[in-house]
Amino acid sequence: MTIGILGGGQLGYMLALAGYPLGLHFRFLDPSPEAPVGRIAHRVTAEYTDEQALQRFAQGLEVVTYEFENVPVEAARMLAERTPVYPPVNALEEAQDRLREKTLFGKLGIATTEFAAFKAHADFEKAVQKIGLPAVLKTRRMGYDGKGQWLLRSAEDMEKARRELPDVPMILEQFVAFTREVSMLGVRSRSGETAFYPVVENHHRGGILRLSIAPAPNLAGGLQKAGEEATRKVLEELGYVGVLCIEFFEVDGKLLANEMAPRVHNSGHWTIEGAVTSQFENHLRAILGMPLGATSAVGHSAMINLIGEIPEEAGVLAVPNTHLHLYGKAPRPGRKLGHVTVRADRMEKLQERIGELPEFFRRPEYCLGEIAGVKVQGLA
Ligand code: AMP
Repeated sequence: MTIGILGGGQLGYMLALAGYPLGLHFRFLDPSPEAPVGRIAHRVTAEYTDEQALQRFAQGLEVVTYEFENVPVEAARMLAERTPVYPPVNALEEAQDRLREKTLFGKLGIATTEFAAFKAHADFEKAVQKIGLPAVLKTRRMGYDGKGQWLLRSAEDMEKARRELPDVPMILEQFVAFTREVSMLGVRSRSGETAFYPVVENHHRGGILRLSIAPAPNLAGGLQKAGEEATRKVLEELGYVGVLCIEFFEVDGKLLANEMAPRVHNSGHWTIEGAVTSQFENHLRAILGMPLGATSAVGHSAMINLIGEIPEEAGVLAVPNTHLHLYGKAPRPGRKLGHVTVRADRMEKLQERIGELPEFFRRPEYCLGEIAGVKVQGLA
């Protein structure tokens, strides 16, 4: 059985690694000849809009999925005419546009940030008047990892944004002074079965995820259920199939939905070693209509992203219950090259193991001082 995947980055790579034990084969389509999956699977190198390449790619596939949410909707729609595509194309469309996404949250009664959508430069002032400062300005489409975003705190920030503002539809959001950022991964299979992972605590720097702690420590009562209810509503409304991630701000003991990703997600990488069934395996089970695997956590995990640089491997692997994942990409500033997951049965043990990681991780961008109650000298 061959699964087709649009996008050949690390998420596709990990999907394939989860699928091989199930006897699955994979074929990828990616415009880049450097896409990491080339090392482990059949890869078609072509633009997503190349109809002939899409036809070739789709030949004999059981089902098509995607690992990149900016895949052109037309490509997914074209493939859906001949092969089932999951998550469904409507989910891809909703998630590609911040306004549609927020409107969907609103319609389903899911609390989200206050916002104003505007089109032209001329309406920028009006949006600021409505929302006030501080605010976060975002392009409606094609934004990820903090790209296409401006934090506005002052008149100077507005001036700078006005100069840089692309002439595309935008959204201005109220700046949320959140307690922390969390995410929820839900999965729904072709048969309608659903399952939810524990809420995860996330730390970002420069809009890029650096650290996830799972399950989120000291989660207030009711928040796991609130996250599950919000995610379930979206899964059901969209007739969703596969893994869906919703990112939330935790503020005043409540969850405020920020955005969703219709795919496996970086904040779910800990599930490879830290949950009974990984997000990658469950995504495959879901799109094939197989029973879902248990989503419970096995102890406590910390997932640390390796961005732009890779530590010396032996020092990482020397720490007990620590796993290194390298995606086979050439180092470049800001690029996700791999991740490290540290696991332990107790939180105190996790903190101890984090403290045993090499010096490399002591820099503030690794956020390891954020791990609740960690008392390790030198950790920022
Ligand atoms: P996003 O692309 O929407 O996930 O934004 C990237 C990161 O920017 C988030 O993870 C937050 O750390 C920050 N951010 C985005 N929107 C807001 C907001 N309205 N208020 C405060 N921080 C925000």
